[in-house]
Amino acid sequence: MSNISWKELPFGYYKTDYNVRCYYRNGKWGELETTDSENITMHMAATCLHYGQEAFEGLKAFRGVDGKIRLFRPYENAKRLIRSANGVMMAPVPEDLFVKACVEVVKKNERFVPPSGSGASLYLRPLLIGTGAEVGVKPANEYLFIVFAGPVGPYFKEGFKPVKMQIVEDADRAAPLGTGTLKVGGNYAASLYSGQRAHDEGFSNCIYLDAKEKKYIDEAGAANFFGIKNNTYVTPKSTSILPSITNMSLRELAEEMGLKVEQRHIPVEELSTFDEVAACGTAAVVSPISLIVDRGTGKEYNFSNEPGTVCTKLYNTLKGIQEGLIEDKHNWNLIIETK
Ligand SMILES: *Cc1c(COP(=O)(O)O)cnc(C)c1O
Repeated sequence: MSNISWKELPFGYYKTDYNVRCYYRNGKWGELETTDSENITMHMAATCLHYGQEAFEGLKAFRGVDGKIRLFRPYENAKRLIRSANGVMMAPVPEDLFVKACVEVVKKNERFVPPSGSGASLYLRPLLIGTGAEVGVKPANEYLFIVFAGPVGPYFKEGFKPVKMQIVEDADRAAPLGTGTLKVGGNYAASLYSGQRAHDEGFSNCIYLDAKEKKYIDEAGAANFFGIKNNTYVTPKSTSILPSITNMSLRELAEEMGLKVEQRHIPVEELSTFDEVAACGTAAVVSPISLIVDRGTGKEYNFSNEPGTVCTKLYNTLKGIQEGLIEDKHNWNLIIETK
């Protein structure tokens, strides 16, 4: 695929050769199927369309300097999809089936795995939906699990650069004991309005506060939040944020770098005491933040326009492991055997 300009690719849908599917019917999962169709046919009363029986995942495959393709921590995504499935009463996809489908979709689309050093990667999108027809409010008895993939460009096209974020005072993405800990579409629907408004007002995304007291930092758009001060990595503890696999990995790396790690409430006013703040997730790994404006109070929290030293070190280490430049001591990468 030498005619793709890998570096220019946006984060968006890109048609590849194949996707992988599996159907749950009569109480069990069937065989994995590979197809070149981009469409699905389903009953108009499918529960995913009416009652939000839907969950998804996102993970990346990288071609390393040694030419090998690495999938980053797919078993963690498998476990999280099981939690999401249980949370909205869907048939969970067994871990091994999940990983097998991910490996298969990478192999079948190998020509779309960007070359090493391009900064681009192959983004995998596993999706689980209730397809059984119901009009009464109850879980479906049939499900479809799909994994599709497509190349995405480097998140930071002009280099690793801090972004501006807006704290929203008048919207929540998830209730304190709601579905915030699950990767379900409904949370995204709930965040579209405030996310779009933040864009329109000049910010890259918004930061949500805890829905109950509106005092603590919760989620940073579709990413987790962390701050650095006093040689400590601080990230919110909350019952409404999605447990990010990137954040979990960064916490381990931070500890190994000699930082303390704290998962606790972060009051908004504490923002002024951090040396560095950032959002983290699969898309960017680490996205440093240069400015946070509280939309409710108008208060501004300023940080450096350049990425901080700790954020940079965490970013380079995690990317280095994903791209095979740094030894993978934790066994996070699944190496995909290709011919
Ligand atoms: C997917 C997601 C994240 C990031 O999780 P990773 O596993 O690091 O990609 C964070 N917050 C929300 C709301 C998400 O949906």
